Amino acid sequence: MHKHPSALGVATALKPAAPVTLIRPEAAARAARFFVEKFPGRSLYAVKANPSPDLLRTLWDGGITHYDVASIAEVRLVAETLPDAKLCFMHPVKAEEAIFEAYHSHGVRTFSLDTIDELEKIMRACRDATDLELCVRLRVSSEHSELSLASKFGAELGETRELLMATRQAADALGICFHVGSQAMSPRAYSDAIERVRAAIVDAAVTVDIIDVGGGFPSIYPGMEPVALENYFEAIHRGFESLPVSYSSELWCEPGRALSAEYSSIIVRVERRRGTELYITDGAYGALFDAAHIGWRFPVALLREDESEEELTAFSFYGPTCDDMDHMVGPFMLPADIGVGDYIEIGMLGAYGAAMRTGFNGFTSEATIEVADEPMASLYTEVMPVRRRSNVIKLG
Ligand SMILES: *Cc1c(COP(=O)(O)O)cnc(C)c1O
Repeated sequence: MHKHPSALGVATALKPAAPVTLIRPEAAARAARFFVEKFPGRSLYAVKANPSPDLLRTLWDGGITHYDVASIAEVRLVAETLPDAKLCFMHPVKAEEAIFEAYHSHGVRTFSLDTIDELEKIMRACRDATDLELCVRLRVSSEHSELSLASKFGAELGETRELLMATRQAADALGICFHVGSQAMSPRAYSDAIERVRAAIVDAAVTVDIIDVGGGFPSIYPGMEPVALENYFEAIHRGFESLPVSYSSELWCEPGRALSAEYSSIIVRVERRRGTELYITDGAYGALFDAAHIGWRFPVALLREDESEEELTAFSFYGPTCDDMDHMVGPFMLPADIGVGDYIEIGMLGAYGAAMRTGFNGFTSEATIEVADEPMASLYTEVMPVRRRSNVIKLG
């Protein structure tokens, strides 16, 4: 792995023609330590946000010992990368072969489900094992989140009683899990969901051993500045403490975005300018899927040795492929004199950015460089680092 002091240094020294992924292990380690120290329970890293083995090892060193995996490929990857990690297979709809291999070859004992069919599938694949931790996924509202996860998975109110009772019979430990949607902008998302959990427990009258509040913890992006994560932890702790669960019950969470967003950014070059449209070297089929498809705004900064004094102006981006949909509307605020040959850092791409890259149309890049400067924004530092003028995320 190449190392460099800063993003600016990479752009000016290497002048890369293809996009470069920058990684900041210290930022990810800091996020891991924050969750380990401050979340009032156990934190599982949701691997889908960014499965990079380097990141997995960094989080492990930061104290994250449990990993939320959703496919047999993720099971194999984490088992190989971190042999002592505990794996929790939290996709509610799994292939029976995947469950079989996870249980019998990789020691996985924790599975989620949201139907009786899936419960039966798990019991068949695990040969009616008596050492299972089974988490019933409840459907909860995504109203406080930027990205909904409310349609696809989760048992409905009318279904939870039978499902919880049947799962209680089969499980060594019974859990209840949910996901409030990604980038939850209010702690209310969790307190409301915990009220759903309470109703389900009371209705089924079962003993519950694990409450898993899932992912959804926010990161920081332009126009999306959440309150401090401590507020989320407090709301969750209060809700958990008031639930009718067994005295020794455990509280879990599954952050993906919050543990990985600050880990990566990318450097791209401007290949053409047309008015306020910049044609850059990465896009919708690279690390900018969310920017293209759901209009996500990532922080941007011009990487020029002599900082531009020009007004910040709203730009949109076109990616490098020949596809019209390879378009990121932004707005991305950059100095008005930006032009062909300039380099831009696009930040906070460690979650659902670097992991989404395809090779469509021949535009891809494996180039990864470790840098020592701070991420473009952070939820884990007292003062937001403001390295460059165009870097400032305006608050409020
Ligand atoms: C995607 C996912 C997560 C992580 O969600 P974030 O919003 O990235 O924190 C956690 N748990 C499950 C079951 C998921 O599908």
